[in-house]
Amino acid sequence: MAHTTASACSYRYQTLSHTQPADTVDVPRTDPDGCPHPAADGEDDRCLFHATEREFPPAALTESFIDSVKSPERDATFAGGRLGDLDLSNRVLDTSDGEPIDLRGVTIDGSIDLTGAIVNVPLLLGNAALTGALEGERSTFEAPVDLAGTSVEKGVYLHNATFESGIAANGFEVASLMRVRSRPLVR
Ligand SMILES: [Zn+2]
Repeated sequence: MAHTTASACSYRYQTLSHTQPADTVDVPRTDPDGCPHPAADGEDDRCLFHATEREFPPAALTESFIDSVKSPERDATFAGGRLGDLDLSNRVLDTSDGEPIDLRGVTIDGSIDLTGAIVNVPLLLGNAALTGALEGERSTFEAPVDLAGTSVEKGVYLHNATFESGIAANGFEVASLMRVRSRPLVR
């Protein structure tokens, strides 16, 4: 491919874990295409989510994540990326044309906080790895959620969360504590 101006990220999706979501929910099963974000990192032409030469602070990554989700020009695709703590608590998450928020195969060096959030589009976290927790107490997921093959080290907190359109959680691994009610269900 010819080199273009201020190029798009050169990342191509790859992941160590390849669990396919169960057929029970309507989420994509094909791998994500290329990355839609502009290059920000060195000679590899990687965006900040796929940077190999620079480390971007978690707050900058979160801000850029939210901007990208809202942007009508860019798909909300972060698949295979690397982020830190992602604080999405009490937010309403929509994309401009209803496309999924694609976090498949991401590495999160920290936690995803969806406490009190309303997610109106499919949330794809399949084959993601979180070193922290997945927090989603009182959250509402209007569209399907993909947690197939996801691993979470520090527990899952979904007390009073509502899944309106189902959840694929085959191969979902939680290293410590899973709390979907007021008491732990899985240790
Ligand atoms: Zn990228």
